Amino acid sequence: MSPPRQTDASGSAQGNPACPKCKRDFVLRVVPEGFLERVGGLLSISPFRCQLCTNRFYGFRSGAGVAKQPMDRRQYVRFAVRLPATFSGEARGEGTVVVLSMGGCAIETDVRMPAGKVLQVRITISDQEAPVGIEAGVVRSVRSGIIGVEFLRLVQYEKDRLSRYIAGLLLARKNVTGTK
Ligand SMILES: [Zn+2]
Repeated sequence: MSPPRQTDASGSAQGNPACPKCKRDFVLRVVPEGFLERVGGLLSISPFRCQLCTNRFYGFRSGAGVAKQPMDRRQYVRFAVRLPATFSGEARGEGTVVVLSMGGCAIETDVRMPAGKVLQVRITISDQEAPVGIEAGVVRSVRSGIIGVEFLRLVQYEKDRLSRYIAGLLLARKNVTGTK
């Protein structure tokens, strides 16, 4: 018997595996890379990316509903936010984080810089605690006053803090499947 088509309103995606590292199931199925992963796809084995601890792992897709989930070319769910930020390193200044994920952020800023600059970024997630520090991020895109920064290096402590913050956003949104 085939289950009725279900809309995913339950938070984490139906049938997705839990992250083997942190045991939570806020995971996103991601695009297979390379020959072996594509072969794996035929066997219903897919790469997944944990949205909280950033672990990439393999899991079995199960059920028709899961197979129909869109794969997201992005590795992480991104959230619209407005958080004050400062940056230093190869460019220095301040701005507002307008998009945030475990993998990077977009910062609205008046500071002009070319792509490729490596920055340290400090993001104020709460006025109760110190900003989250990104040890190294690279500017991947620059357009109309917004720079896109990919996180290259976070110390574990800061990664955990960012992860907790993102978990709060995920729970608030109740949707990690990347559906539009
Ligand atoms: Zn995890």
